[in-house]
Amino acid sequence: MTTEYSAEVIVIGAGPIGLELAVALKKEGVDYLQFDAKQIGDTISWFPPQTRFFSSNDRIAIAGVPLQTPDQNKCTREQYLAYLRTVVQQYDLKVNTYEPVIYIERLREGFSLLTRGLAGERRYACRRLVLATGGTARSRKLDIAGDSLPHVSDRLEDPHAYFQKRLLVIGGKNSAIEWALRCHHAGAHVSISYRRAKLDARSVKYWIMPEISGLLNSGAIEGYFGTRPLRITAAAVTLENVNGELTEVPTDFVLAAIGYEADMTLCELAGVELTGDCQTPTFDEETMETNVPGIYLAGTVTGGTQDKYAVYLENGHVHIDRIVKALTGHGSGRDAVVYEQAES
Ligand code: NAP
Repeated sequence: MTTEYSAEVIVIGAGPIGLELAVALKKEGVDYLQFDAKQIGDTISWFPPQTRFFSSNDRIAIAGVPLQTPDQNKCTREQYLAYLRTVVQQYDLKVNTYEPVIYIERLREGFSLLTRGLAGERRYACRRLVLATGGTARSRKLDIAGDSLPHVSDRLEDPHAYFQKRLLVIGGKNSAIEWALRCHHAGAHVSISYRRAKLDARSVKYWIMPEISGLLNSGAIEGYFGTRPLRITAAAVTLENVNGELTEVPTDFVLAAIGYEADMTLCELAGVELTGDCQTPTFDEETMETNVPGIYLAGTVTGGTQDKYAVYLENGHVHIDRIVKALTGHGSGRDAVVYEQAES
């Protein structure tokens, strides 16, 4: 197959940081192309409807475009997706969406990429490559019998679905607690199974902790602490405690809120060194260049699969200027604010 298009730089990933980088490259007049395997902001589109970001609006705003909300509250999923679309339109960014990169080959000078988009396979070439592929490509799997039954899900869609139904939520951090509360308020009979003896106040946002604690204490939400799910059937989930004792919890629906994994396949294909169970990529903090000369990382991909979240959207903005500097020899002229303490 012949190379159809070539560019100086190819950016893979069109989440907020990938888009922010695209704006910076465009302003610098860099010849670039951008791809996403799905739509822009894809992982944000999985948030449950009307989820509000934990982060303040100014921390998730990109490319210097103010992020206003009608009620001065933190941004919702819907508002943020509309904001990303507006930034793309404002800067007339060309994103090749639904065009996953499926192969990366190192050439003597640069890289050759193979994509498989809606119109079939295409080959591209570039001198430098930026991976902004994110850190939450897929939900972690329970990997137990029954985990693919139709009433088991790893995404909360509309809490209405669980009205007056028995719902078991698995997990004990922010998603699990937020989902449990929302479904409880929507009239579901909610239980939580968490593998630790109690919720950790350092891992659950302080503004939802009092409410969940009150509901657990009163029994309005049932807590099965120190348990792990062993198997799921159409009618129940079997939980095992640390002593090996089993409890059958009758359920109509199960939501697994047990975190996410990064997809590091492209890093692997490109020869980026990955270390440890979290597959943390090797890169230079100053330039964001990986161990493969000419390949750079932007955003949460830098954390690999994170067990304890330390890299978020809000502390990825600083990567933009470092990459622009490395690619052009000078910065984008906009110093991103460094957030020491992330809010996410
Ligand atoms: P998470 O922080 O990775 O938490 C996963 C939970 O699942 C943990 O309690 C973990 O137990 C448990 N777990 C992991 N593997 C398990 C297994 N095999 N079986 C049973 N339990 C398992 O994931 P998250 O709560 O989805 O949060 C991800 C990120 O999104 C965080 O940065 C969070 O703050 C953010 N978030 C933001 C919002 C928002 O902006 N509104 C809402 C929700 C989440 P351990 O506690 O023992 O590790």
